[in-house]
Amino acid sequence: MLLQENFSLKALNSFGIAVSAKYFAKFSSLEELTNTKELLNNKVAEKSLILGGGSNLLFTKNFDGIVLKNEIQGIRVLQQTNDDVIIEAGAGENWHGFVLHCIDHNYGGLENLSLIPGTVGASPIQNIGAYGVEIKDCFHSLEAYHIQDKCLVRFEANDCSFGYRESVFKKDLKDQFVILNVCYRLSKKPRLITSYGIIEQELAKKRIIEPSIKDISDAVIGIRKSKLPDPKIIGNAGSFFKNPIIPTALFEQLQKQYSTIPGYASEKTGFVKIAAGWLMDQCGWKGYRKADAGCHALQALVLVNYGNANGLEILHLSSEIIASIKDKFGIELEREVNIL
Ligand code: NAP
Repeated sequence: MLLQENFSLKALNSFGIAVSAKYFAKFSSLEELTNTKELLNNKVAEKSLILGGGSNLLFTKNFDGIVLKNEIQGIRVLQQTNDDVIIEAGAGENWHGFVLHCIDHNYGGLENLSLIPGTVGASPIQNIGAYGVEIKDCFHSLEAYHIQDKCLVRFEANDCSFGYRESVFKKDLKDQFVILNVCYRLSKKPRLITSYGIIEQELAKKRIIEPSIKDISDAVIGIRKSKLPDPKIIGNAGSFFKNPIIPTALFEQLQKQYSTIPGYASEKTGFVKIAAGWLMDQCGWKGYRKADAGCHALQALVLVNYGNANGLEILHLSSEIIASIKDKFGIELEREVNIL
């Protein structure tokens, strides 16, 4: 284990913000993690941050503590029947690489979640979701290390309190656990989810009538590439805000004023999910740019760093957006990205 001081995090956060960590180390096993923690605890009892792909956070200042990068690798099948398989992946595995591995083996369930940046370990933290699928739909369990109690804990789906881009790891248990590996139950006889119209359109364009999970994955990859900026080229952390879930009565009131406002059924009875990107479009944010901070030209919901924006500039932009939406629609947008 190599402990580095004043380590640049620019390449390790998808926003590409130029900040540094006071201390930095990587770990690729529980043993390496505990050794590192012990060594560091002797040196400094400082705050720590476990970093995965760095794709859902915004650094607004240097990190005055220890950044530990989770690089636990490995994918293996734990159990299987004729119908399904339980597959475990190390938390440091690249998410999209894991999805492609499952598709190659014809294990269905995660194909709609292709090309999401980040690691397997981050996937349950915010219950990642796209095109009608959330990881909670296939989640089996995960193993995590309790930092204070120094013990291993297994979490099943019921223990994780999964919600819309939410889990217990973002709330009550925030910063208490290091996720080591995650297990998914995937199907050998997949049930394809094509309910998001754009997937059907993409399949129709390619004249695919009976799609395979690979076809769905390819369609999702094509859609994402056409609409969303590649963080390797333009810094971003995907959707910056959550889609607001508002009471149906408020939605109906807004519909009278804005007849084209899109609303989708929410899991919460009596509530409607509306597209944060649409609200932003109405306030003129699409394609907005101030210095190097802006909103993507094809999807306003994705805040971008065109080169040398710092985290505070992006944060200020997000506050301006929140204020404008509140002013026009009376709706308070909530940030999805973690601010550090
Ligand atoms: P979009 O197609 O422009 O649609 C805007 C929003 O409307 C989406 O966020 C989606 O909500 C909702 N929506 C659209 N069709 C829907 C349907 N048939 N049923 C229910 N809700 C529907 O969105 P987009 O920006 O291109 O994103 C496409 C998908 O990728 C979405 O699922 C989005 O969440 C996901 N995505 C996530 C991130 C991230 O960082 N979290 C980044 C990029 C894209 P939902 O978001 O609830 O699906």
